[in-house]
Amino acid sequence: MSASLVTVSYIGATILFVLSLGGLSNPETAKRGNWYGIVGMAIAVLATVFGSRIVGGGDQPIVVGAGYVFIIIAMLIGGSVGLYAARTVQMTQMPELVAIMHSLVGFAACAIGFASYIDTSTVFPTHAEHVIHLIEIYIGILIGAVTFTGSVIAFGKLSGRIDGKPVLLPGRHFINLAGLLLVIWFGSLFMGAETIAGGMFPLILMTIIALAFGVHMVMAIGGADMPVVISMLNSYSGWAAAATGFMLSNDLLIVTGALVGSSGAILSYIMCRAMNRNFISVIAGGFGTTSTSASSASAAPAGEVKSITAAETADLLADSKSVIIVPGYGMAVAQAQHAVYEMTKLLRDKGVNVRFGIHPVAGRMPGHMNVLLAEAKVPYDIVQEMDELNDDFPNTDVAMVIGANDIVNPAAQDDPGSPIAGMPVLEVWKAKHSIVMKRSMASGYAGIDNPLFYKENNMMLFGDAKKMLDEVVATLKSK
Ligand code: NDP
Repeated sequence: MSASLVTVSYIGATILFVLSLGGLSNPETAKRGNWYGIVGMAIAVLATVFGSRIVGGGDQPIVVGAGYVFIIIAMLIGGSVGLYAARTVQMTQMPELVAIMHSLVGFAACAIGFASYIDTSTVFPTHAEHVIHLIEIYIGILIGAVTFTGSVIAFGKLSGRIDGKPVLLPGRHFINLAGLLLVIWFGSLFMGAETIAGGMFPLILMTIIALAFGVHMVMAIGGADMPVVISMLNSYSGWAAAATGFMLSNDLLIVTGALVGSSGAILSYIMCRAMNRNFISVIAGGFGTTSTSASSASAAPAGEVKSITAAETADLLADSKSVIIVPGYGMAVAQAQHAVYEMTKLLRDKGVNVRFGIHPVAGRMPGHMNVLLAEAKVPYDIVQEMDELNDDFPNTDVAMVIGANDIVNPAAQDDPGSPIAGMPVLEVWKAKHSIVMKRSMASGYAGIDNPLFYKENNMMLFGDAKKMLDEVVATLKSK
């Protein structure tokens, strides 16, 4: 494939990636957006594999046959693992899958960084270009290593293999500062090294520090702040890919990495705003821990917990004019989205105004609830963001909480000592009645008690969300 055809293919792929991101911003166009991404990636892979970089062109052309054999074997292994993971992953495991995928990008950036460093086949025409290449390698490995271990720890936390509570080492800010100073110092040794062997030692030491920093950074972040970490690691993986693009002088990889990096950064900002958090303080860690302040200790929820049956719930819903459903992580666990839609259809047929209120951090990944509701074919026009309908709760007959907890916790507003203090929440308790569907009194991801359960106008519908909804649907059908 000629160089100009490769360039044209890369431009085409870049446009498709931009269209893909645009499409993914709305559930109605998300499917199309995915297709743009798939086609763009196929073009990118084909143009790279058949481009001059593989069949030779540099000073030391790779033997055509041997190069392709390696590429095909690698693609078969990677493609099979990806296909298997995509087909078998449960919707509840999606966030973990995304986290582990980010770690692979970080690992790839490190591996390519080391390979670029020991590869002597590229001749740099000027000293300045060589220096720039070394900086690219150093920064690429640095970002890649942090992304790698940070994502592995995030995977562990999301899958419950690692405790969600923040691990706060004494003097952790000094440890981070010392790490940063060492990374700068090793950087100067690396840049000044006369030989590859001489530069390898500081490079390896920096990699070890970056790997440790990734672990330390994510371990220090508490449960409630994990959404920011996920989007931040998403952003890091993009920058790691962009750094790899610089190392390999691959323009498409630079553009793609920058797209992922900047969209991840925007998502982190949106997540921080949704949680009323400052990005720097999230990264510094320590939030999301169970508060020990006097105010929260004294604010142990008071009141009585009232329970309701599925049949009573159906009666209450059928007699309502307006219902707002608030789904959360429990709906994903129970795979209850189809039952939710069936109930919605029955209620709408009876003339009830049903809407969905989506909190930006509901579930375990950005857009988690929107994906599930779209899968169940819930009409998009009744799915609204928290800001759009939070003021409507006082005019709502029933607020129905399905497997959500932290996102409807009034302590965020009432208890300044709460770990989620200041986080905007869906004000379901302002509705005439609120019904919380969950299996027990257990806390949510942030690990804190929820005073909503004890409110005068609240009732608990205990049980698995899918099972309970099936019972509600059965009663509604019999009416
Ligand atoms: P929560 O984790 O606060 O609560 C979910 C509730 O669902 C639990 O209390 C649980 O109670 C209930 N549940 C679990 N399984 C079932 C089931 N089968 N049937 C019925 N109920 C069930 O979820 P929210 O969506 O309210 O809040 C999201 C939390 O996750 C926030 O703290 C957010 O910060 C965090 N987070 C969000 C991420 C994101 O990107 N969106 C990423 C990482 C973390 P019980 O066991 O009693 O049934």
